[in-house]
Amino acid sequence: MSRSDLPALTIADLQSLLRRKEVSPRQVLESLRARIESVEPKIDAYVSIDFEAALKEAETADVNLPLGGVPIAIKDIINVAGQPCTCGSKILAGYRSPYDATVIEKLRAAGAIPFGKTNMDEFAMGSSTENSSVKVTRNPWDVSRVPGGSSGGSAAAVAAGAAFGALGTDTGGSIRQPASLSGLVGLKPSYGRVSRFGVIAFASSLDQVGPLTKTVRDAAMIMSAMAGPDRHDSTSLPDPVPDYTKNLGRDLKGVRLGVPKEYRVEGIDPQVSAAVNAAIKQLESLGAEIVDVTLPHTDYGIAVYYFIATAEASANLARFDGVRYGYRAKDPKDLLDHYGRTREEGFGEEVKRRIILGTYVLSSGYYDAFYVRAQKVRQLIRQDFVKAFEKCDAIVSPTTPEPAFKLGERTTNPLAMYLADIFTNTANLAGICGISVPCGFAKENGSQLPIGLQILGKSLDETRILQIAHAYEQSTDWHKARSPIALDSK
Ligand code: GLN
Repeated sequence: MSRSDLPALTIADLQSLLRRKEVSPRQVLESLRARIESVEPKIDAYVSIDFEAALKEAETADVNLPLGGVPIAIKDIINVAGQPCTCGSKILAGYRSPYDATVIEKLRAAGAIPFGKTNMDEFAMGSSTENSSVKVTRNPWDVSRVPGGSSGGSAAAVAAGAAFGALGTDTGGSIRQPASLSGLVGLKPSYGRVSRFGVIAFASSLDQVGPLTKTVRDAAMIMSAMAGPDRHDSTSLPDPVPDYTKNLGRDLKGVRLGVPKEYRVEGIDPQVSAAVNAAIKQLESLGAEIVDVTLPHTDYGIAVYYFIATAEASANLARFDGVRYGYRAKDPKDLLDHYGRTREEGFGEEVKRRIILGTYVLSSGYYDAFYVRAQKVRQLIRQDFVKAFEKCDAIVSPTTPEPAFKLGERTTNPLAMYLADIFTNTANLAGICGISVPCGFAKENGSQLPIGLQILGKSLDETRILQIAHAYEQSTDWHKARSPIALDSK
């Protein structure tokens, strides 16, 4: 294989080439750099890249480690020591991370090289990556469309062959939705499975870090390296981390898959329904037993999510006041003027909308009517899943109701944008794990647009959903398809 083909490899294949010393970590980085230079003008996936630091790390990389010498792209919400971290926001302009997030420490310990930061919706608020203050990222399958969000830069980079794998964060769907729209595997771990220390908080009871990759095996490899307890994150779970690659290859005999009747809602693109129904048939032919389940409170998911996520965001974002770091308004008259103008000028429209909404639902007089009630309905949503999992081992559904939409199509209608997460955000509310795996294409005016199948599992049952996703993936050719951008840059 020629050097220029290297970036098309999966992490698993790249790692075995590195281990056999057929390529060096430096050569891998150099070929990745060339690929990024050729595709980046078309997709704008990266916010910052430090090849010099990465090349230094490559010199000493131990290729015998699980991810030894593998470059990984990092969503720009995760602190990487010495690198800028904008979180897609003007308010963090000029800020450089003083330390590594725990996930970065763990990836480094497994031999990976975090070399660049990817674009995202500001503070992870959005489903299209259009809410970034830095730039707009495009979908490598059709550059007139969004890559999804908020981890859209990570998705576009991997889908364009401009990253072997990437980290994203998922508060209501921000890993699974862009994975689905960009033809990738995206895993949202169970709440508490992965440390958030050093990850900028959006909604602390919902946020999780996870991988976006070309294959299920690659996602399992990253998870095995990065999951686990952390004394710096009191919400991280103490349970030991299994080797997530170990069940890959097991068949699906005896596995019960629930299909929730509430997910057969109107408004789903017929091509998405057809692809997901075909995937369910395929899973059945692989030995899975399909059972009907019900998640009766699904309809409340979006409303509950937007009460809780905005409430938590309004508290978390109070720290961005221009005093210690980031953007600072010029020539303030007094302290209040400093705070007011720094935040007014530093935050984008969507972030301000959410801070205002969140402050409102927490304000006295509305707290019980909105926030407390949303917490109660959240419990009902959680119990829906507990009951459903008595009848099945995992739940299958579309990841998103529609394939990638056009750039600009939803920017003036926040509600239409919020609906992109209708199938994903209940998993965050319930704290369970979920994965999106490619399951076909929709044809739209000559473009092929990826469709994703979502598989949801019980808390800490990542091994199971990876097994199911892998069995499905290996029985289809969807994961072998490459985006036009990945193909034409050779
Ligand atoms: N799109 C959802 C939102 O805007 C989810 C974002 C996320 O998961 N970070 O809040």
